[in-house]
Amino acid sequence: MLLEVRSLSTAYSGLLAIQDISIDVAENEIVVVAGANGAGKSTLLKSIAGMERPRSGSVTLDGARLDGLPGHVITQKGVAYVPENKRLFPRLSVADNLRLGSYLHRAAADREAPLERVFALFPRLKERLPQRAGTLSGGEQQMLAIGRALMTRPRLLMLDEPSQGIMPKLVDEIFDAITTIRATGVTILLVEQRLAESLSIADRAYVLQTGRLILQGPAANLRDDPEVRRAYLGL
Ligand code: ATP
Repeated sequence: MLLEVRSLSTAYSGLLAIQDISIDVAENEIVVVAGANGAGKSTLLKSIAGMERPRSGSVTLDGARLDGLPGHVITQKGVAYVPENKRLFPRLSVADNLRLGSYLHRAAADREAPLERVFALFPRLKERLPQRAGTLSGGEQQMLAIGRALMTRPRLLMLDEPSQGIMPKLVDEIFDAITTIRATGVTILLVEQRLAESLSIADRAYVLQTGRLILQGPAANLRDDPEVRRAYLGL
């Protein structure tokens, strides 16, 4: 397994937001984490990314422990995380936002190399290099956030609700891009509210409910099981 999460629990002011979560992500998979608002999906990604410190449990990437390390070190080890709020630098240009991503790349040499791949993925970004990030549309900002994450040349890319606040036409572009990114050898862990779309591009899925893992399986099984669709996915 590329990513192994074991019995992970994370609390905010003593209240557990995720409890005893174990998930696996194999090299080159797309894995979806689903669940209602407040189920703990973002907390799980933040705990893997080093943005929140788990209370117990472990996270390993290719067998090496990540939990307890600071976020920037986890990035350097090959885990990129695009949070729900994207955390772009709104007053900086598109070009500078991308460049900042490359400084966290594991090897300092050849920092510009992934840029062409980002432009191939999102040609809109290339057209808008001098534009301030804060003036981009919601969809373009999401593309920039994903592009910046790719500049770190991750092995694992974690995306928190990339389709949120984006007009429908661009949502398809984002989902297509995720599939293309996987085809370049990057493993994807995706949190999404748009279940039909995300299950259609994913290999496997996990469902969280009030901080606990209640269901897991191949994406196609979850998508096609009427009981699961009704009871857990709201489809
Ligand atoms: P959403 O889809 O609404 O983002 P989620 O499944 O990602 O939901 P989390 O954001 O992980 O869920 O939240 C899980 C629980 O932890 C919620 O009860 C939430 O209120 C709480 N929580 C999240 N962040 C914090 C925080 N910084 N401080 C205190 N409680 C928090």
